[in-house]
Amino acid sequence: MIKTSIAKQVSQLCLWFFKRNLHEYNNDDLSKSAIVFSPHFDDETLGCGGITIKKKRAGADIKLVFMTDGSKSHKHLIGENELQEIRGNEGIAAAKSMGMDVNDVFLLGFEETKLKEHYDLAVAKVVNILLEQQPHEIFIPYYKEPLLWSEDHLCTTRIVKSALKSYHKDVVIYEYPIWFWLHWPWVDLINKNRYLTKIIVKHTLMYGLGLGLRDFQCSMYIGDVLEQKRATLAEHKSQMTRLIADTKWSTLNDVSNGQFLQCFFQEREVFRRYHHSI
Ligand SMILES: [Zn+2]
Repeated sequence: MIKTSIAKQVSQLCLWFFKRNLHEYNNDDLSKSAIVFSPHFDDETLGCGGITIKKKRAGADIKLVFMTDGSKSHKHLIGENELQEIRGNEGIAAAKSMGMDVNDVFLLGFEETKLKEHYDLAVAKVVNILLEQQPHEIFIPYYKEPLLWSEDHLCTTRIVKSALKSYHKDVVIYEYPIWFWLHWPWVDLINKNRYLTKIIVKHTLMYGLGLGLRDFQCSMYIGDVLEQKRATLAEHKSQMTRLIADTKWSTLNDVSNGQFLQCFFQEREVFRRYHHSI
């Protein structure tokens, strides 16, 4: 209990300290077109669901690109083809919940956890989407995402950056953190699960005891759309509930006793922001 409250105080202190460097996303840009690139079904909602909802409310044209097929998350309990279909449908339902249309969603369908093996083809597909859609903003995972579960997050970022070399237009890039949050003080250092504890300790050293937050200079207030963000995440039923009654079916709430999930429902989404110019 004491440990938890100290961690909470430290995380509040980190937030307070780094808030000084955070620039608020310009509300005038809310209506600008964007493409959100999501390695897996759920990263789009977790990392930038709040800003996506606000941009859709402001009338922005937003496309959502899912890089992988969702076939692996619970493959020990359900057939890969069945899981792939379920998660694809969940991704589309989440897009609709944020205000998009089914035609706004691209399913690239590369095998989950193996995006790296299809690097060149993925770059070619992303180039086509960029040239066709002509977005003003791009959302991709944080370039220092840890290698957890797979390299898909980092690969997505690298693929989109490679593709941008063929996109001769000014565009603003927003990198959103996902597994970045899985370190102290955002989650407890010591966990019942020894494997998870090892990961959290490793990430805590890697990101410098909360100092990693300094990498993010832009933020968006999402306190007014948190309810819709929660409803959107709930569309990823296979990640939020057990589709079969088996405790081996893990959900996002199981990661660090729900503390990891709470990171995505703070009042602000944070981004690493920079320009890509011609
Ligand atoms: Zn992911």
